[in-house]
Amino acid sequence: MKRRKTRGVKVGKLKIGSNAPITVQSMCTTHTRDINATVRQIQELEEAGCEIVRVSVSDMDEAKSLKKIKENISIPLVADIHFDYRLALESVKYVDKLRINPGNIGSNDKVKLVVEQAKDYNIPIRIGVNLGSLEKEIIKKFGLTSKAMAESALKHIKILEELDFYNTIISMKASDIKRTVDAYRMMATKVDYPFHIGVTEAGTAYTGTIKSSIGIGSLLLDGIGDTIRVSLTTNPVDEVRAGIEILNSLNIRKGRTIISCPGCGRTEIDLIGLTKSVEQATAHIKKPIKIAVMGCAVNGPGEAKEADVGVAGAKNFGIIFRKGKVVKKVKKDKIIKALLGEINKL
Ligand code: SF4
Repeated sequence: MKRRKTRGVKVGKLKIGSNAPITVQSMCTTHTRDINATVRQIQELEEAGCEIVRVSVSDMDEAKSLKKIKENISIPLVADIHFDYRLALESVKYVDKLRINPGNIGSNDKVKLVVEQAKDYNIPIRIGVNLGSLEKEIIKKFGLTSKAMAESALKHIKILEELDFYNTIISMKASDIKRTVDAYRMMATKVDYPFHIGVTEAGTAYTGTIKSSIGIGSLLLDGIGDTIRVSLTTNPVDEVRAGIEILNSLNIRKGRTIISCPGCGRTEIDLIGLTKSVEQATAHIKKPIKIAVMGCAVNGPGEAKEADVGVAGAKNFGIIFRKGKVVKKVKKDKIIKALLGEINKL
């Protein structure tokens, strides 16, 4: 799919936009002042494949904590700040990106200070518009619509551009998929800044992943989106896994994909349990590979011939196959080992 043309914005060692690979990000659920817990969570996220991480900064203690956090992690760190310009001035010294809406900072002088500091440290700013916290005058004029989100983002952009600041990333999120998607589509015709995309307050791991996949997926298929966050009410590691899976599913990223049949009356194995085991045992694989888990030996290998390697269930056995061709038959308790053996050969 053809990506929307955007300017490139550097976030630490990464670039967002301008044809740079689409990155997956997440946000810590720890209190940022709890440095150990925050570093631990970031390391877990990193391990899961998270490429950019955001933390909230609610007071000066938390802003100062960013220094130590940054020293102990290796992915770019983003400070999420609401309203208080002093927190932005302190945070900018330690992080790779600020998320702050200039229109909410207060007087022009305060905005100018933050922008000058961001320029000095060469730190980009993400303007993050949320439908739930739009400015009153914008709601009055446009209602709670996608147009209102786009207008709000344009207002914040104008403030930055008037201060000669273009190192900007934009997001416009609602918990409603259609309004989120429409806002990004609208903005894609108006500016060339890279987009951080996602559906906010999407819900639990189950409903939130569905909503996010539809929203983020629709935009990515349009070529819109330069970095993604799946926002879930669960351990943020799941957000990262879901984000990676979305990119894999659209062939934007080539990684490990699991395909599995739904099972039917022909299923001869604990298909749900086996699929979960295969998913866990291969979670560490970063290289592109398609792994199939099929319920029966009659149709499984043939139906999954596109898979590089797979297993099909037989009574008390597993049939290991490659590109639809049977390689060997192994006892039930040896399936995972045999499958990993075949994967290693690849
Ligand atoms: S692969 Fe076998 S078990 Fe799975 S859905 Fe097809 S026929 Fe049923």
